[in-house]
Amino acid sequence: MKVAIVGAGISGLSSAHYLRKLCREGNVPLELVLFESSARPGGVFDTVKKEDMVLELGPDSFITSKPWALDLARELGLRDSLLGVGYGQRKDTFVYQAGKLWALPEGFFLMAPSKLLPFLRSRLFSAGAKLRVLFEPLVPRGGGGDESIRSFVERRFGREIFEKAAQPLLGGIYMADPDKLSLLATMPQFLEMEQRSRSVLWDLLRNPPTSRGESGARYGLFLTPAEGMSLIVERLCESAEFARQDYKTPVLSLKKSEKGWLVGSGRGEEEFDAVILSVGADTAGRLLSDVDPQLGARLSGVRYVSSVVATLVFDEKDFRGLPEGLGIIIPSREGMNLVACSLYSSKFPGKSGSGKVVIRCFLGGELNPDAVLWDEEEIKSVLREELARVFGFDNHPTEIYIRRYKMSMPRFALGHKEDISGVMHRLSRHSGLALCGSAYHGIGIPDCVRSGELAARKIYADIIR
Ligand SMILES: Cc1cc2nc3c(=O)[nH]c(=O)nc-3n(C[C@H](O)[C@H](O)[C@H](O)COP(=O)(O)OP(=O)(O)OC[C@H]3O[C@@H](n4cnc5c(N)ncnc54)[C@H](O)[C@@H]3O)c2cc1C
Repeated sequence: MKVAIVGAGISGLSSAHYLRKLCREGNVPLELVLFESSARPGGVFDTVKKEDMVLELGPDSFITSKPWALDLARELGLRDSLLGVGYGQRKDTFVYQAGKLWALPEGFFLMAPSKLLPFLRSRLFSAGAKLRVLFEPLVPRGGGGDESIRSFVERRFGREIFEKAAQPLLGGIYMADPDKLSLLATMPQFLEMEQRSRSVLWDLLRNPPTSRGESGARYGLFLTPAEGMSLIVERLCESAEFARQDYKTPVLSLKKSEKGWLVGSGRGEEEFDAVILSVGADTAGRLLSDVDPQLGARLSGVRYVSSVVATLVFDEKDFRGLPEGLGIIIPSREGMNLVACSLYSSKFPGKSGSGKVVIRCFLGGELNPDAVLWDEEEIKSVLREELARVFGFDNHPTEIYIRRYKMSMPRFALGHKEDISGVMHRLSRHSGLALCGSAYHGIGIPDCVRSGELAARKIYADIIR
């Protein structure tokens, strides 16, 4: 069978890997052709190697609580090259507030404490906010349906917890406005806790999700390949055994044909038995608008947000004001452009070279959509001014790498999960067509890998039938 993979991000490459595996096991001949609009594979993955540094300018690690990325890394023979995050370091997350950095209390997990004592001792939150959290067990259960993150957190824990912690933590992960983000599509475990135990606080206290010394994110669950995230991409390209990899070749049209599908690009139209679309949902919607207008319209309804990631390298001996921890979040109420800083050299000492401090700064997102349009000088000047406020010193980087991620992150609006069920249901009418990517089951790398595997399974089942 001849299959087109459209889009060479982690989702598309994973789909190719799993389809190759299924066909090998089933003794089905497979010719895979990759179409990619940019000049290289990997999508938002972007590893830069310089001297003894391995810098990740895009995603830097993957979580292991969902097994799919780790399973894939093992299949690709990367098990021994995986490094943990912040080994031997304090795993604190800091909140920038009123000119100072405040540690999130140990055990604070995304929107609520899972350890009471550190929370009650914390000077980040007011006495009123702490009392409000202690009263959370008295808040009645919600209806269990979808709700925005903001509405859920304010309903259960009050406004201060939302503004100081949940907004910057969750807004930072999704680069989106938590007022518009669906809880069901992003953090369904909190809805489950509420339904199961009525009190999210009690549930968290009984089953703390964070390890000792952690706050904010569960850093201890993340892994990264020592040689760079791009190694996953290289290995996937090898394992897929593509017959052809066409770069700088955006797919412009998709039609049904007698035998299967006609894929149109600058090189003309080519016929395939099956197609896996692993591009953004908006692009997939456009490509499918003639084949199935209803499916096309549903896909085009998924909105995307942009962000800027600037990676700054400093000489360690000159850097002043580095807190002992792994990340800093900046609540939007501080009125700054910075959304978060990831303390890369503390997270990955083995990848950041000797004698260096490396900090990744996140700007933009749904609350600041213009940042992605700024030129380099504007970005650098914002960084200089705001980093001096955050660290309390005017540190001078020796190198700056700036990457703009235009419309790269899907924003899971209220009702997203239901919409995607509708998309998948509709897709089942089209034999030899599959969709995968961050828009469907989750934006994290494990979810993208899983979506690639599910797409491969659909295509294999369609063709074998
Ligand atoms: C800055 C940033 C940091 C992140 N950090 C993390 C992290 O640390 N851990 C984590 O788990 N997740 C992280 N994520 C999320 C995760 O990395 C992404 O959700 C995931 O990599 C998306 O993969 P994808 O293959 O679905 O999409 P993409 O990587 O966007 O790939 C889609 C590909 O399709 C191509 N394409 C588009 N249109 C066409 C067309 N018409 N024809 C042919 N090709 C086309 C594009 O050029 C691109 O290569 C991060 C995301 C971003 C943006």
